[in-house]
Amino acid sequence: MELEQTVGAGTSQSTLQHPNNRNFPPPAPTRSGSMETQHPYSLLWHKNISFKSSFLLWRALRGKLPTNDKITNFGVEPSTCVCCFDRSGMDSIEHIFSTGKFAAAVWSSFAATAGMLSDCSSLQALIQQWWAVRPRNAAHKTLLQATPIFICWNLWKNRCAAKYGGKTANISKVKYAIYKDNYKMLTNAFPQVKWPAKWAELIHMSERCVHDIKVNMVTWTRPKDQWIKVNTDGSAINNPGKMGVGGILRDKSDRLVMALTTPLGEGTNNKAELEAVILGLTWALELGYKNIILELDSQLVVHWILKEAAPQWSIITQLGRLQNLISQTQNFKCLHVFREANWVADALSKHSHKTTTPQVYFNIQQMPKEARSYNHLHLLQMPSVRRKKTKRIKEPP
Ligand SMILES: [Zn+2]
Repeated sequence: MELEQTVGAGTSQSTLQHPNNRNFPPPAPTRSGSMETQHPYSLLWHKNISFKSSFLLWRALRGKLPTNDKITNFGVEPSTCVCCFDRSGMDSIEHIFSTGKFAAAVWSSFAATAGMLSDCSSLQALIQQWWAVRPRNAAHKTLLQATPIFICWNLWKNRCAAKYGGKTANISKVKYAIYKDNYKMLTNAFPQVKWPAKWAELIHMSERCVHDIKVNMVTWTRPKDQWIKVNTDGSAINNPGKMGVGGILRDKSDRLVMALTTPLGEGTNNKAELEAVILGLTWALELGYKNIILELDSQLVVHWILKEAAPQWSIITQLGRLQNLISQTQNFKCLHVFREANWVADALSKHSHKTTTPQVYFNIQQMPKEARSYNHLHLLQMPSVRRKKTKRIKEPP
């Protein structure tokens, strides 16, 4: 028995780590991930954001910074702030980073260019506000993630310079430093883009950047001599929900051997995918075929069939039935294909939701109209164009 597989151009979804333990330094920054992460502060860490800036904010959010409001009880130093012109505030974390006049002015200035009204009620609110914006592309996402971190970092640097370095708090200096941190980060992460020399232009360009598109031509190909090709697909209207499967068997001369569409009751997408494969293989074996190429568009199910991934417990029985069928073949290949190469099976599986009884077709004229026209495209070996966004960012057109 021969096992073979082709792998689709899938990209792995990376995840962000977050500190689980309040008392220990956080894990090192990791690759960027989705904005919809579970942990509210998971966006603190990013490979392109300097660790010291992320770490500072992490400490601020946990109240772990040496501010004067804490030591004033000991009568060591005055508890007033050093950031505001009239020094009317307290040297507290919330004042330095969000509620103080100086901080509020910095936040509002950056928020305005990003189309937001700053909510300076708390540091947490400010950060969540930036992280809740829906990013337009990877560069915009990085900028939305990093800006609140760089704002805090530079507010803290400003406060320390005023307190220990004898400098006067300077709002334009702070704003420029925040811009510069963002500029460096974007240039580092997306060197192919010429990033502008002003904050307002920087954020607007990041909004309008576009992802490069990769074009792939996808074709269904006929099997070689002695082989039969089985394309299957399963679908569930909701996941889980009403399941249905479809499949089509074609030989080396493109001849339709048989096709099927079957409603299956309630279940998940994966269950439907596996049931489709079981039905397709059962038919191929029943009709006397021993050299079988199986094609489906679910990468996960292909991994299960080829035993490259541990299956969920709920589908172990189904997989057992499937392995039993595979053992009855002489040669067996299981391939992952893009949906465009599996359109007939896809159409047949969707058609099952319109029927109440299983349907089997032995000639093309009997097949549902949609499936028939996709089959026609496949027979003409007509390639479908598959466009896929890449991670590469381009300047706006
Ligand atoms: Zn102040």
